[in-house]
Amino acid sequence: MPFSRRDLLAKLSAAGAGTLLGGLFATKSTAQNVGYNDTPMLPGGHWRVHDSKRPQPKVVTPGAAYGQAPSDAKVLFSGGDMKEWKGGPWTVTQDYFEVKRGTGSVQTIGEFGDCQLHVEFCAPAEPKGDGQGRGNSGIFLMGQYEIQVLDAYNNPTYADGTTGCVYGQTAPLVNACRKPGEWQTYDIIFVAPRFKDGKLETPAFVTVFLNGILVQHATPLIGETLHRQVGFYTPHGPKGPITLQDHGDPVRYRNIWIREVGPHSELRHRKTWEIG
Ligand code: MG
Repeated sequence: MPFSRRDLLAKLSAAGAGTLLGGLFATKSTAQNVGYNDTPMLPGGHWRVHDSKRPQPKVVTPGAAYGQAPSDAKVLFSGGDMKEWKGGPWTVTQDYFEVKRGTGSVQTIGEFGDCQLHVEFCAPAEPKGDGQGRGNSGIFLMGQYEIQVLDAYNNPTYADGTTGCVYGQTAPLVNACRKPGEWQTYDIIFVAPRFKDGKLETPAFVTVFLNGILVQHATPLIGETLHRQVGFYTPHGPKGPITLQDHGDPVRYRNIWIREVGPHSELRHRKTWEIG
């Protein structure tokens, strides 16, 4: 579309000529000299607004398709073996592993705090049981905060116990389950709780996508997820394992990877905010 002088004048007027011209000409486009060094400091005291000295984000190569591990992920399972896990043992194939009833839960050997976690799971194709007795497993962040795995397709149960819930605390925003026997995806963004001097400083927060649909939106956790009890916090370290639950049902898992999240969440843990 042609861009007329009248359009330009209108835009200059609307945006404020100084602001727009500043945006056009004050920032040099060379990679060696981007940004500003005379702008106000952001809260936290590390960087200015548009700070030219702020490090460039690390380059990460995305997976070729949705759900495939990006270049900086730690792969926890991609088929064939469970060398990143202990406990069980569960049944392993080249494509997936499966809960082996009565063997107990499995935990990652590695420990993680703030993270992005991708997990794919599949409830048994032939549903057996109902409520909590159908396709039950679970993903425990830091070994104690459960995001429920259940066959919740046409299977009513208590809302804070269905797939996508923070177990015993927060129901999912919607039921986004696929049919039993179909592979489903979880993408979980977790902020670990912080403790100081033996007391809770900030709670855990979790954001969850089930099959690409938002089901938990920066949900604060009230503590460990428990059955028939209100959860509470017991102070612990900054990292813990990812645990998958043996609840007696042959739920399958595949394509599991995790990305530890760095200091980007530091502002979340600020005690005070100066908003002006
Ligand atoms: Mg469970």
